[in-house]
Amino acid sequence: MADARLYAVLARIDDDLAETARRAGCAVCHGVLHSARFPRKPRGGPAELPTGYDRRHSFCCAADDCRKRRTPPSVRFLGRKVYLGAVVVLAAALRDGLTPGRVARLRQLLGVDIRTLGRWRHWWRRTFAASPWWKATRARLAPPVPAATLPGSLLQRFAGDGWEPLVALLRFVAPSTTPSDGAGLFEGRREPAEDAR
Ligand SMILES: [Zn+2]
Repeated sequence: MADARLYAVLARIDDDLAETARRAGCAVCHGVLHSARFPRKPRGGPAELPTGYDRRHSFCCAADDCRKRRTPPSVRFLGRKVYLGAVVVLAAALRDGLTPGRVARLRQLLGVDIRTLGRWRHWWRRTFAASPWWKATRARLAPPVPAATLPGSLLQRFAGDGWEPLVALLRFVAPSTTPSDGAGLFEGRREPAEDAR
């Protein structure tokens, strides 16, 4: 979780996802999209995050009579969580095997307490698991991924070394972070992040 290279990889993937969305143009009038990123305060990552981590990519249609917003999928930010997506996945996946030593370490590394970890686990197993996006997507996964052990049960489906499975998972769930393809998990522009307390 503290490896700065992971966050550089995720930033590049988000740049690509944003460029694809920009090239596609406005979904309503096919107009040109202008950058209209919104601020985020990422928590839980290493001290040195790549530049741009305090903004989520987003666009606004340039046509005066449209102005429709288009927000591309993201592998960096998960829904309205203030913590970085990678952190919310890994810490929640660890939650099952939490020992007092691990809880202390997570608090030291990320500044999260056991209540926050419990909320993340609840979010994966209830909110995420109940979302239309997940319900449509899980049908493609065989054997089924049990909701009761998300996100660890989903993480296990991706092969690779080091943080490759994590990057693959974040890519996989990225469509759930947009309003158009998404799951009601999208963060509204003015809504505060739900765990920003
Ligand atoms: Zn438009």
